[in-house]
Amino acid sequence: MGGLFINYLSDVLPHTRRLSQPACPNCQTSFSWAAYLTLRACASCKKRRGLRTWLVQILTVASFTYFWLFPSKLVGIPLGLIILIYFGIITVIDLEHRLILHPTSIAGAFLGLITGTFIHGRENGLLIGVGKSLLGGLFGFAIMLIFHQLARLFTRSRARRRQAAGQEDDGEDALGDADVILLGVLGLMFGWPLIWDVLLLGIVLGGVFGFLFVIAQLLQRRSPGEALMAPLPYGPYFVASAFYFLFLFL
Ligand SMILES: [Zn+2]
Repeated sequence: MGGLFINYLSDVLPHTRRLSQPACPNCQTSFSWAAYLTLRACASCKKRRGLRTWLVQILTVASFTYFWLFPSKLVGIPLGLIILIYFGIITVIDLEHRLILHPTSIAGAFLGLITGTFIHGRENGLLIGVGKSLLGGLFGFAIMLIFHQLARLFTRSRARRRQAAGQEDDGEDALGDADVILLGVLGLMFGWPLIWDVLLLGIVLGGVFGFLFVIAQLLQRRSPGEALMAPLPYGPYFVASAFYFLFLFL
């Protein structure tokens, strides 16, 4: 069920921004709900469902089973499973479209506020719980906004140098707005000061995998400049970090 939901939202939201009838990515023919939910191939062009559809199904069933048996000590079973679904949707959409959408951001902010209040409110009472959640959200949002602005300055000066060298501006942003929103959501979810841990681990993960990525690019004989400048999505690393602290830590 959870896997179907993740696949459904990942299929329709980036294209229509609303809960619409899913359509075949190959020929745009709408799926019937029965065919869509039973993962059958497209009736019109016979193209089978993508690898991601199956991967998400398998991973969701496996992780639901695992976290049912070994629930998160921080958030418990029901909230934990909702968060898993949310992480699944934003990760798939981020990886496939490099995009964070308003509906998922708003839903995430609510989910984050509830989770943060739950985590911090259990011992300290509702008011302090809400306060810590909001403070974490503000911190996550602000710190990412600062990173983002610095990255933008860096990209601009690079664009000027490229123009001076007669090359075209590639118009790439080193860090996306998506990450600012994501860190705001994770900040609400973890609250202050736990958001620090999520932020730092996310940066470390991004750094390690970014380094491996650059090495891989160099091995494929790209020029060092090109390899260093390839844009890296940071969102999945922060989600992985949040996942670790919610479900595997403790
Ligand atoms: Zn089709």
